[in-house]
Amino acid sequence: MPDCIFCKIANGEIPTKKLAENEHGVAFADLNPQAPFHALVIPKAHVPSVNEARTPEMMGHLYAMVAELARTHGFDQTGYRTVINTGPHAQQTVFHLHIHVIAQRQMSWPPG
Ligand code: 5GP
Ligand code: ZN
Repeated sequence: MPDCIFCKIANGEIPTKKLAENEHGVAFADLNPQAPFHALVIPKAHVPSVNEARTPEMMGHLYAMVAELARTHGFDQTGYRTVINTGPHAQQTVFHLHIHVIAQRQMSWPPG
């Protein structure tokens, strides 16, 4: 998708330190981290939001990448939060589906 910043990160047009990559998706550090570990896991294909995520396989592949990140970065047992913001009420700002993976600090609930 032209002009989509996360498509450009996924296809290498914008150089980014990738934390993980496979044929389905890419994980990279968030520009504005909300915790000591804050990554975004995105599909390589342009999907604007969960509303357009029609294939269970795609979400399965992305969450497998989340679990792998948790294992490799050693926070699978201490815990972490995954967040997908969708639309105005959730304040989604980038319209290429992304899973926030936030870890390595104590969090509270409910979220703001
Ligand atoms: P949203 O509010 O849509 O759920 O989250 C968008 C996230 O993308 C934000 O946490 C923001 O910091 C991050 N972000 C926006 N632009 C860039 C970028 O160019 N590079 C990286 N690494 N993260 C970005
Ligand atoms: Zn995109």
